[in-house]
Amino acid sequence: MIPESVTVIGGGVAGMSAACALAEVGFRVQLVEARGYLGGRASSYLHPGVNEVIDNCQHALFGCCTNLLGFYRRIGVAERIHWTSQMTMIEPGGRRSRLGPFEWGSLRLPAPLHSAPSLLSAKAFTVADKLALGRAMMAMMKPEALNDTRESLGAWLRRHKQTEGALNRFWRLVIASALNAEIDSIAVPYAAKVIRELFLNSAQAGSMGMSTVPLSELYAGVTAFLAERGGSVLLNTRVEGAAWDEDAAQWLVCTRTGELVSDFVILALPFEATQKLLPHLPVEEGTEKLARQIERLEHWPICSVHLWFDREITDLEHAVLLDREIHWMYNQSKLQTGRGGHYIELVVSATRSFAALPREAAIQLALCELAEFFPRVREARLEKVALVKEMRATFGVPPGIDSARPTAVSPWPNLFLAGDWTSTGWPSTMESAARSGHLAADALGMSAETPLHCFEADLKPHGLMNFLGRLSNH
Ligand SMILES: Cc1cc2nc3c(=O)[nH]c(=O)nc-3n(C[C@H](O)[C@H](O)[C@H](O)COP(=O)(O)OP(=O)(O)OC[C@H]3O[C@@H](n4cnc5c(N)ncnc54)[C@H](O)[C@@H]3O)c2cc1C
Repeated sequence: MIPESVTVIGGGVAGMSAACALAEVGFRVQLVEARGYLGGRASSYLHPGVNEVIDNCQHALFGCCTNLLGFYRRIGVAERIHWTSQMTMIEPGGRRSRLGPFEWGSLRLPAPLHSAPSLLSAKAFTVADKLALGRAMMAMMKPEALNDTRESLGAWLRRHKQTEGALNRFWRLVIASALNAEIDSIAVPYAAKVIRELFLNSAQAGSMGMSTVPLSELYAGVTAFLAERGGSVLLNTRVEGAAWDEDAAQWLVCTRTGELVSDFVILALPFEATQKLLPHLPVEEGTEKLARQIERLEHWPICSVHLWFDREITDLEHAVLLDREIHWMYNQSKLQTGRGGHYIELVVSATRSFAALPREAAIQLALCELAEFFPRVREARLEKVALVKEMRATFGVPPGIDSARPTAVSPWPNLFLAGDWTSTGWPSTMESAARSGHLAADALGMSAETPLHCFEADLKPHGLMNFLGRLSNH
């Protein structure tokens, strides 16, 4: 059989996952990317100001990211992820609390109790905070928490009588880190999903992974992977439109440098780029609805401050910083292999006010705050610094958002939609992007009468969580 051809437009995680999955089962795939490198919003590049290759921001993944890990395994880079189950929370002044699964020799606690001892002993929370958190976690275990798409998390938390400490040091922080938004802008099922996966379902699901190499290096094998299977990657190639040739049953994809012909297309673009392309695609029933869906999606920014000091300011690999604008500290000299120097990255999520600060003010604020957690900062000399503001980092998931997220099946023949913003059930993450890529590949397979099974199922919850899950399915 002559392999059928596919043009995948967009070389982010969604496009790469779809392209590699389809190439593996015999499709001839062209992956087309506007920039000069792969990775999209999860990539690295040489920053001219500091002359260092940096990620556009630290990207964390979790054990529950089954599709992202499936993609990494497919291209042979899964072992380049460093895993940890322990999280250090630091208060201004330096007091530390450790969160993570309980381990005593070979003794482990069953889910959902595996992290309970560390939460109960965390100094960052008062007894009232811990009781409030316990109550809310138990409510999040109920199936209703996954179904109520109308209430905001903020309203839900007020209803479940959360203390100021629980709100500020747990909910706002976890939601900003995992969903990059404020609690009043989040639908309860998305929060429940995150809480269940990170804290309740199993220790494996909640373990955190970080790349040990700059992000674009992770994808270096994608070009060879596709080439070995008859495909190719076209970089620096912006797609400007596409036309469907009814007679040949093929797509003609227009780029500035010429036309690409293929049997199928996967559009794996961010929502705003998809919106821009809509007027340059054939008019079909359903195009208007898609345009209206996209109009409802909204961006949230993420900022990162990259600092090189003349000495070590902490021996921690990473930490959660409480009660301040900065949320995370990543010690990149320890996390990324082969990095010399003393390179610290700070991440500020879900704060539009920080993103609006001028460069110098943002850097000064970050340095002042960092010194409150790590006093050695005051003696250290700052050698160089880069500030990266990603104003279109992620999309929000407020109540009612699911009806604005289209499935992989599009209004056009033989054209499928992917991208983190499509209907995956996940918030704006690399896992959502990888899921969307695999869902689009499976939908394409159905249409080509070649059933595929690219989509990777969720991890099974452990212990009582598994029992509760089975109970609610009956
Ligand atoms: C600062 C920041 C921090 C983040 N932190 C995390 C994190 O810790 N963990 C996590 O899981 N997720 C994180 N995310 C979210 C994650 O990066 C995204 O959800 C994911 O990368 C989206 O992938 P995608 O393939 O759907 O879209 P994109 O990555 O946006 O890929 C789309 C690609 O299409 C290309 N393109 C656009 N227009 C055209 C065109 N006309 N022709 C051809 N190509 C085109 C773009 O250049 C891009 O490469 C973060 C995002 C940002 C920005």
